[in-house]
Amino acid sequence: MANADLVILGGGSGGYACALRASELGMSVILIDKDKLGGTCLHRGCIPTKALLHAAEVADSAKDSEAFGVRAAFEGIDMPKVNEYRDGVVSRLYKGLQGLVKSRNVTFIEGAGRLVSPTTVEVNGEQHTGSHVILATGSYARSLPGLDIGGRFMTSDQALNLNFVPRSVIVLGGGVIGVEFASVWKSFGAEVTIVEALPHLVPNEDEACSKALERAFRKRGIAFSLGKRFASATQDDSGVKVTLEDGTELGAELLLVAVGRGPNTAGMGFEDQGVAMERGWVLVDERLRTNVPGVFAVGDITPGLQLAHRGFQQGIFVAEEIAGLSPAIVADVNIPRVTYCEPEVASVGLTEAQAREQHGANVAVYEYNLGGNGKSQILATTGFIKLVQITDGPVVGIHMVGSRIGEQVGEAQLIVNWEATPADVATLIHAHPTQNEAMGEAHLALAGKPLHAHA
Ligand SMILES: Cc1cc2nc3c(=O)[nH]c(=O)nc-3n(C[C@H](O)[C@H](O)[C@H](O)COP(=O)(O)OP(=O)(O)OC[C@H]3O[C@@H](n4cnc5c(N)ncnc54)[C@H](O)[C@@H]3O)c2cc1C
Repeated sequence: MANADLVILGGGSGGYACALRASELGMSVILIDKDKLGGTCLHRGCIPTKALLHAAEVADSAKDSEAFGVRAAFEGIDMPKVNEYRDGVVSRLYKGLQGLVKSRNVTFIEGAGRLVSPTTVEVNGEQHTGSHVILATGSYARSLPGLDIGGRFMTSDQALNLNFVPRSVIVLGGGVIGVEFASVWKSFGAEVTIVEALPHLVPNEDEACSKALERAFRKRGIAFSLGKRFASATQDDSGVKVTLEDGTELGAELLLVAVGRGPNTAGMGFEDQGVAMERGWVLVDERLRTNVPGVFAVGDITPGLQLAHRGFQQGIFVAEEIAGLSPAIVADVNIPRVTYCEPEVASVGLTEAQAREQHGANVAVYEYNLGGNGKSQILATTGFIKLVQITDGPVVGIHMVGSRIGEQVGEAQLIVNWEATPADVATLIHAHPTQNEAMGEAHLALAGKPLHAHA
């Protein structure tokens, strides 16, 4: 006999979204987490890092104030105070989330759970059986062979707890997490060097965005080494030394290892219960079902984009699927992506290279330069909005670079997900002067009627 309709293992973005939606739909839910409700995103990911990035923006504004005719002096960073501000943001959201879960009558159990049958999770010596079980145990920061985290070698988990600004940092990995920390530390006054084995920073983005970010980082004095692999690292009382495969040696006070995140699934009984896995990832079909009937998986433990809003949507999907509502499939390709460094990189849909691979010559591309956008001039930012269109058809990719440009990803994802053509968007009105106008201008141009742009 089941204790609940749903037993959810993991109370991060994926797990708690599933719990909230399921309870809305009238299901009884047990939600289990060994740590704090809210998971990585709220406590060690999205929210605390974005608070640091906002503090970095404030620091940059103080440093650059003279250019805007404002007299201000930048005296430095009070890191304990920055952390206090960040923790205040996190704790207010945490409190709100706890209240929300309680108000929806979700039973939250604190403790490390283990799948002991396809319908049962054991936690704190008690067994909880559900008509359905949802696996949502998230991910952990990976390191490289021979690079043990500790002391001056840290991942984002330890980096977030620093109560001082390092003099210098080597950031291993030029993906989202690496460039965000690099951006914060540079604004806070550290010397930063990024080491990326692939040929570009943010290598999953459209190459035009990567190149623009590299130009901007160069201008900001953030050093980076591209296309060279890490070989080894040592640390002592005075700092760290990193050697690359070509013999290059780099030194700094700290090393941030940001080489990706692995699935948090070891030792939780998933394999013992016959759940199909690959290198630790839980395999699911497009309806997020594992191979074991009644067992679903959501969020970072499933292969694909590791983003909080993907977890939210997948959690909602599973709750609605179980309720028999036949929700629309959550496809990774059209999930919006934002990298919140300075300048920001934001995108949705296919890169130009992916579109050309899939559609050959049948692809049109337009890049609207933010130089022609009033609000971007006011903010003193450069960048662009690049559209990728199937010729005479819908826009299938939007790629953007610029300060605050992440805010534009909302309209970008509507355009791509609704398969709008440039002509559809050209009829919509974008308020002046906003950066959002650049979205309208880019579509006007691609529809053959540019306003503040050359054809
Ligand atoms: C530094 C950093 C910055 C990020 N920034 C962003 C961003 O800006 N935007 C964005 O969209 N994404 C961002 N992410 C990614 C985002 O945090 C994850 O995609 C998201 O948290 C995944 O949600 P999840 O529910 O799959 O897993 P998690 O949030 O990791 O939650 C899993 C939960 O399961 C619990 N758990 C694990 N094992 C057990 C067990 N055996 N028993 C009980 N509980 C267990 C854990 O305690 C945890 O609370 C960032 C990540 C990091 C590390």
